[in-house]
Amino acid sequence: MEFYPIAIEKLIEEFAKLPSIGQKTAQRLTLHVLNLPEDEVREFAEALVKARGTIKYCSQCGNFTDSDPCSICSNPSRDQEVICVVENPKDIMTIEKVKDYNGVYHVLHGTISPMAGRGPEDIRIKELITRINSEIKEVIVATNPNIEGEATAMYIARILKPLGAKVTRIAHGIPVGGDLEYADEVTLAKALEGRKEI
Ligand SMILES: [Zn+2]
Repeated sequence: MEFYPIAIEKLIEEFAKLPSIGQKTAQRLTLHVLNLPEDEVREFAEALVKARGTIKYCSQCGNFTDSDPCSICSNPSRDQEVICVVENPKDIMTIEKVKDYNGVYHVLHGTISPMAGRGPEDIRIKELITRINSEIKEVIVATNPNIEGEATAMYIARILKPLGAKVTRIAHGIPVGGDLEYADEVTLAKALEGRKEI
């Protein structure tokens, strides 16, 4: 390993903590930053700190927001009686791009995964249950079509149905083992349209 001044080593170390950034990429990013004009670096650092400081989770849906409730939960033209359940905030962006969906969301922040030791109490299922009342027309489960996503969907159906909720699952236009993020808009629109009650 080459020798770098401590400040550089530290920066490489920080980059390497980010998801899907390996040691090599971390080094490349560090060298890139060192070659940037100082004001650009400052802007970048300030954006990081500002985002972390002002963005919180919506107390209702769990999406990132700078106001609580978020702009989707507080939008009167959205159907507050249809809830689409997703794994992560990024899935909301994906579904919003399709423009066919006008309900609200619920972000689980993960999946149930016995393999990884994650149970229902580790994701926002309790919060979902508290949102269910007689007004809710449908809960669409849009977790990813892989083992964990399916297990999570089944669990949600089992818990919510006794509460009188209609629970549907998006159709398998999305390849099994796939990720919502990589589905094209037509596929995702079809998957939403072809959802089935579970
Ligand atoms: Zn919200």
